Amino acid sequence: LFVVFEGADGTGKSTQVVGVSTRLRTAGNDVVVTREPGGSIVAEKLRELVLDPEHDITPTTEALIFAAARADHIDKTIAPALAAGQIVISDRFVGSSIAYQSAGRGLSRQAIVDINAYATGGLAPDVTVVLDLPETMACRRRVARGEIADRMESAPDGFQDAVRASFLDQAKAAPERHLIVDASQTPEAITDEILSHLSIKFGV
Ligand code: C5P
Repeated sequence: LFVVFEGADGTGKSTQVVGVSTRLRTAGNDVVVTREPGGSIVAEKLRELVLDPEHDITPTTEALIFAAARADHIDKTIAPALAAGQIVISDRFVGSSIAYQSAGRGLSRQAIVDINAYATGGLAPDVTVVLDLPETMACRRRVARGEIADRMESAPDGFQDAVRASFLDQAKAAPERHLIVDASQTPEAITDEILSHLSIKFGV
């Protein structure tokens, strides 16, 4: 089972990855938690490179670095874990490339879809959980965490709104493979909602 969490910055994704994976493990499941960009040795190096505010990186280069990181992440971490029958939970996947590099940075959606079809070899999540929060609330959380620091989080006005809208569009275009969750609820309520969906749909 391959589960992906998506959402704009400050929506509580990482908190939910921890909450959901902990509860799945307590219930006796073998769970691998991973993240993008990153999740393998080479991909973590690419993460450092692409998020470093010191670097001037064009949107095209950025999109290709994310795709290269994803290819390595799949080869080294995701595919072996799925083959071993483990549940894989990834903090971000292709949906983030569509949201950030296409909706956010303005690259062609088709180009992002194409390079990622190549990078993933067609591997897709069984379900993508989209944590949805109005940008004003997400921004407050990022500021509270002192996190307006990396290249993406200092993006221009409207960028995070476009990212949020893209995640919602992607979910609405394929509702059978997405779960949209209202991220303004308490962390516990959100975890419960996600686990209940996973239990009904996948019996975990
Ligand atoms: O989710 P996390 O905070 O670890 O992501 C790191 C940064 O990379 C975030 O600022 C996110 O906006 C950005 N990102 C991106 N394009 C992607 C994936 C992540 O700009 N495809």
